[in-house]
Amino acid sequence: MNYHRYYPVDVVNGEGTRCTLFVAGCVHQCRGCYNKSTWALDSGLLFTQSLEDQIIKDLQDTEIKRQGLSLSGGDPLHPQNVPTILKLVQRIKSECDNKDIWLWTGYKLDELIAEQQAVIPYIDVLIDGKFEQELADPRLLWRGSSNQVIYRFK
Ligand code: SF4
Repeated sequence: MNYHRYYPVDVVNGEGTRCTLFVAGCVHQCRGCYNKSTWALDSGLLFTQSLEDQIIKDLQDTEIKRQGLSLSGGDPLHPQNVPTILKLVQRIKSECDNKDIWLWTGYKLDELIAEQQAVIPYIDVLIDGKFEQELADPRLLWRGSSNQVIYRFK
C-alpha cells in the first residue's frame, strides 16, 4: 500500500485529537473530488513497517493523548489496500488502549466484498459512499455530500 500524508496530530478529520493517514488508490472518480492526486495506487510513498510502528507509538503517546486514528484517502478499502489496513487496525485494537478508528470510503457499506467486510469489526465510525457534487453541502459534519452515511458502530 502507498500513502500520501500522515499527520501524527490532527484535529480536523474526526472527533478529538487524532492521528490521520491518507492512503493512495481510489477507483471511484467522483466529480469534484478534492484528492485526485491520490487516485493512482502507485502514487505517494510506500507505507512501511516503520510507519506502521510509528502510528502505534503515536497512539500510545501519553503526552499528546490521541482519541484515535482516522483513515482516509484515496480509499482505505480499495481491495489492494485492504490487507495492509486490516493488519494496521488489528494491531491498534490489540496494542492501543481505548482508541477509536474512523474510516472514510467511497464504497457503500452494503456493497462491500468479503475482504473489505473483514475490516469493519475494527472500525468505530464509518463514513461511506461516493462524493456527489449535486448533494455537496459545506455545513455537513464529517462528510462532503448528503448521500454519504455516518455509521457509529460503537
Ligand atoms: S471516493 Fe473520495 S478520494 Fe475517491 S474519488 Fe471519491 S471523493 Fe475522491
